[in-house]
Amino acid sequence: MTHLVFATNNLNKLKEVQVLIPKTIKLLSLKDIGCFEDIPETKETIEGNAFEKAQFVKTNYGYDCFADDTGLEVDALNGAPGVYSARYAGPQRDAVNNMDLLLKNLKFADSRSAQFKTVIALSLNSKLSNFTGICKGHITREKYGSKGFGYDPIFKPTGYDETFAEMDLSIKNQIGHRGKAVKQLVNFLNTLS
Ligand code: IMP
Repeated sequence: MTHLVFATNNLNKLKEVQVLIPKTIKLLSLKDIGCFEDIPETKETIEGNAFEKAQFVKTNYGYDCFADDTGLEVDALNGAPGVYSARYAGPQRDAVNNMDLLLKNLKFADSRSAQFKTVIALSLNSKLSNFTGICKGHITREKYGSKGFGYDPIFKPTGYDETFAEMDLSIKNQIGHRGKAVKQLVNFLNTLS
């Protein structure tokens, strides 16, 4: 049984990824390895932050690890909030405040198209790899639904009539940014066994 750390304490994300990972891999959270400190995210790109987090765990705790970083990129805002998605409305990282600010900033925009982008960085056997998943869609004018987290109530993926917060997690996993990146990670892990 291979142990692999997913560098997160976000239970929603752990739930999303756990069901997609091969059964031969035991997924450990940061809590499981006794990591209770804030992992630095100091880079200015989604890729840079993902690598920084994976390498931090490998260097300081010795475990093979993968870390994800996600941003919501809105075309009319030149890709903002992007790498700053969590702290868009301030350091409190409040999802409702973030959504309200985004809706306000898009009030007079012609285009509401946007995409979620997830980068997963993997540090395994001292080698680094990365996997990217993109989900295109648009920002609604109001919040709809109560499932999920973050910007889910205001993001409608292309081809669907529901926001991420209205749809079942299984559908979000199939079509969503993180699910796509995780599938690539899983394919890669399967080629190793
Ligand atoms: P993180 O890098 O995965 O922590 O994501 C940064 C921020 O992007 C989060 O704090 C959320 O605001 C937002 N975010 C990430 N993934 C999702 C998602 O699947 N749905 C909605 N918002 C998300």
